[in-house]
Amino acid sequence: LTFTSCGLPPKLLLNLETAGYDFPTPIQMQAIPAALTGKSLLASADTGSGKTASFLVPIISRCTTYHSEHPSDQRRNPLAMVLAPTRELCVQVEDQAKMLGKGLPFKTALVVGGDPMSGQLYRIQQGVELIIGTPGRVVDLLSKHTIELDNIMTFVLDEVDCMLQRGFRDQVMQIFQALSQPQVLLFSATISREVEKVGGSLAKEIILVSI
Ligand code: AMP
Repeated sequence: LTFTSCGLPPKLLLNLETAGYDFPTPIQMQAIPAALTGKSLLASADTGSGKTASFLVPIISRCTTYHSEHPSDQRRNPLAMVLAPTRELCVQVEDQAKMLGKGLPFKTALVVGGDPMSGQLYRIQQGVELIIGTPGRVVDLLSKHTIELDNIMTFVLDEVDCMLQRGFRDQVMQIFQALSQPQVLLFSATISREVEKVGGSLAKEIILVSI
């Protein structure tokens, strides 16, 4: 499998090439084709495996398709959401998303602590495709402001094991309840019974991916 054989938008292929991603990593080979079809996945993948692009590539591809199929939709409600346990991880995900989404109708908003919520809210209201945030801050934002989440197609939980350790389970579930049955992509260094339970409660059918 190559990135080219996945049927990705040409601009995304160009951005992958510019990034020096010549070949998909093992986790990307398994996760990207499955995620592109809209299926839900539970993947065991460590930092350094290329897990971030495993979810960003399908997200960017599906967002591009969405826009080409809805050319008159000027609202630009969020189409995907990534939750990660720490601000630092969210920043890293956003950096990679900006690099891979360059030149495409693909904007991101960070929803993390440490910056004023007003600026984060304003950015979302201006129209973004992807929200990246920590569970606590996203719950805080959603409890204070109305954000249109009905268009979210893909919901990613990055480092699920770490999120559970930090006690984010209830907040993750609360956020999920606000969505309209999105595809879920779960990534975790370890697949414990608890991680499997979270997967089972978010998706009726989930494909296990391990490398
Ligand atoms: P991650 O596991 O997502 O934290 O990624 C680890 C590192 O691998 C990051 O610096 C990525 O930029 C890089 N990377 C991800 N996918 C590829 C790829 N297909 N080829 C080369 N480098 C990659």
